[in-house]
Amino acid sequence: MKNFDLEEERIKKEIQQLKAKRVLIQLPEGLKPEAPHIAKTVEKAGALPIISADPCYGACDLAEAEAESLNADLIIHYGHSKLLKYERVPTIYVEARATLKIDEAVEKALPLLEKMEKIGLATTVQHVQTLDEVREILTRSGKTVVIGDAGRLNYPGQVIGCDFSNAKSIAKDVEAFLFIGGGRFHALGVALSTSKPTVVADPYENRAYIIKDEIKKILKQRWASIEEAKKAKKFAVLVGLKPGQKRFEEALKIKEKLEKHGKTAFLFAVKEVTPEVLMEFPSIDAYVNTACPRLSLDDVARFKKPMLTINETLVVVNELSWEKLCQKGWFEN
Ligand code: SF4
Repeated sequence: MKNFDLEEERIKKEIQQLKAKRVLIQLPEGLKPEAPHIAKTVEKAGALPIISADPCYGACDLAEAEAESLNADLIIHYGHSKLLKYERVPTIYVEARATLKIDEAVEKALPLLEKMEKIGLATTVQHVQTLDEVREILTRSGKTVVIGDAGRLNYPGQVIGCDFSNAKSIAKDVEAFLFIGGGRFHALGVALSTSKPTVVADPYENRAYIIKDEIKKILKQRWASIEEAKKAKKFAVLVGLKPGQKRFEEALKIKEKLEKHGKTAFLFAVKEVTPEVLMEFPSIDAYVNTACPRLSLDDVARFKKPMLTINETLVVVNELSWEKLCQKGWFEN
C-alpha cells in the first residue's frame, strides 16, 4: 500500500533473527487488504504466516491468546505503537507510518488558524514523523508551536482514542490545536478533551477543516445519555477481555458505587462489545463501558441504550458534576 510504510525488510530480518517458525499477523481494518501481501513476505522469511481475521482497533487488542492457542512464536502487530507493558508472546510492532506529503493540507489549515498565534500539535502514530515539518511551516507563518510530551505515550504529540494526555498537558499554553491525520474520531477527542478550537489537516483527502458543530452535538448526546441512565434501574458494567482493556478493579468499584446509589448492577465479561451481543440481555437499562471509551463516542448511535464511560457514570451517582466531567474528560479511563 503506497500510503503506508509496511516495513517488509525489517519484518524479514526480525523473523530470521528470532528464528520464528509460525507468525500471527494482526492488522487494523484499514490495513487488512494488505494481509495476503504481508503473509507472502513472512513466508519468504521462512515462517508460516497466519492472518488474524478478527477486528482490531488498537494495541490494547494484541492477539496473545490467539497466538498461544495457535502455537505461534511471534505476533506482527500492524498499525499501532506498543501499549502493553509486556507481551506474553514475542511481538513486532509495525506502526505503519504514512508516507503521504503533509505540506499542502497544512498550508490549507493556515487560514483557519489566522487569528490564533499559539498552536498545539496532535496526531496519531501514523504521522508523528511529520510534526517537525508541520512545526516549520507554522513557525514560518509567525506561529508559536507547542507539542505536548506528558510521557504516557510513545511519541510527543501522539494521541490515541483513550489517551489525550499529550494534548491536555499543553491546552493551557495554546489558543488552538492543529490535528494531523484522517478520520474525525481522534480530532474530536482532542477538541473534547482540551475544549480548544481544533483544526484538522487531513493528508489523505488533502484538505483542512475546523471541528465545530459536532462538539455541540456530541455534548448534547452525552448529556442525554447520562440523564437517561439516571432513570435506569439495571446496569451492566462491561469488563473488557482484551489484554489492554481489562479494568476489573475499576469495574468492581463502579458496580459498588451504582449499588450504593440504589441501582442493580451486574458485571459482564465481553471481548467484542457490539449491539448484537448486548441485545441478548433485554432487561438491562444502561451500560457502563470500562473497556474501550471509543464506543461511547464513535459507535453510540448503534446502541439503543445509554453506553456510559466510567467518568460519566460518576455523574449518575452524584460523585462528579457535569462541569467537572467536562474538565476531567469523557472518554479517558
Ligand atoms: S481507544 Fe479503545 S481501541 Fe483504542 S487503544 Fe484505547 S482501548 Fe484500545
